[in-house]
Amino acid sequence: MAAIAISGSASGIGAALRQRLERDGRTVLGIDLRDAEIVADLAVPEGRAAAVAAVRAASGGTLDGLVTCAGIGPQVSDWPLIVSLDYFGSHVLLMELRDLLVRSRGAAVAISSNSSTISPFDAEIVAACLAGDEARARERARGLSGQHAYASAKRAIACFVRRAAPAADWAGAGIRLNAVAPGAVSTPLLDAGLDDPVYGPAIRAFPIPLGGFGRPEQIAAATAFLLGPDSAFFCGSVLFADGGSDALLRPDQY
Ligand code: NAD
Repeated sequence: MAAIAISGSASGIGAALRQRLERDGRTVLGIDLRDAEIVADLAVPEGRAAAVAAVRAASGGTLDGLVTCAGIGPQVSDWPLIVSLDYFGSHVLLMELRDLLVRSRGAAVAISSNSSTISPFDAEIVAACLAGDEARARERARGLSGQHAYASAKRAIACFVRRAAPAADWAGAGIRLNAVAPGAVSTPLLDAGLDDPVYGPAIRAFPIPLGGFGRPEQIAAATAFLLGPDSAFFCGSVLFADGGSDALLRPDQY
């Protein structure tokens, strides 16, 4: 069996996925700013290129799975950074490592968010992301808000998955590409949001029909499902794991 590469493996959802896969005997190649086989900054082009080169070398040319989980939340003060990491950090890994999944007929999963559907997003940021124009996406994010940047980056990566998954170089090559859209999940990222004077009250007031926040292990389970053989007919799905918030707020839009 070949390795599974996971960005954002040092904390939260990525760490829970790493733990789950290793428990199942899988080899994980973590990519993160710290505590990972591959230490790289996915928010900048040089860091992404270094990560891609390191995964290519460490994998021996084949991966069974790729999960792009590294991300920062809307509460950070550097709004362009959100777009650079949450969209471009994910997109570059998916594009540049896709060929490593061909031999194994592997699977890739991008971690989006239910913010992609239930928070206000900016269509220009989404369009700039999908056009590969990082400078324009960053410039637009700079003048809006962390929430707009986050929702737009998460929407763009979900749209990318929907567009790319059925295409010849993904589904046509036997590689499944899907996304998970978590709601509020108890991780350091959510804790930082809860500590924020603006985002904290908004997060606490947000309706979650099942009650309470999710646990990283629950998102890891959904992601492991999308990596594994039981999801063999999934292609371009955006799997919501959010306690029912998206269904509550957008019942007929699916
Ligand atoms: P987390 O903060 O616990 O983990 C994020 C990881 O990304 C960390 O290990 C961090 O070091 C890494 N990272 C940050 N910047 C990086 C960079 N520049 N280069 C490489 N790695 C970097 O967060 P989490 O809650 O586990 O989030 C994981 C993913 O899930 C993110 O994409 C996030 O947007 C998404 N998500 C989380 C929630 C939630 O409520 N926790 C909800 C929806 C979506």
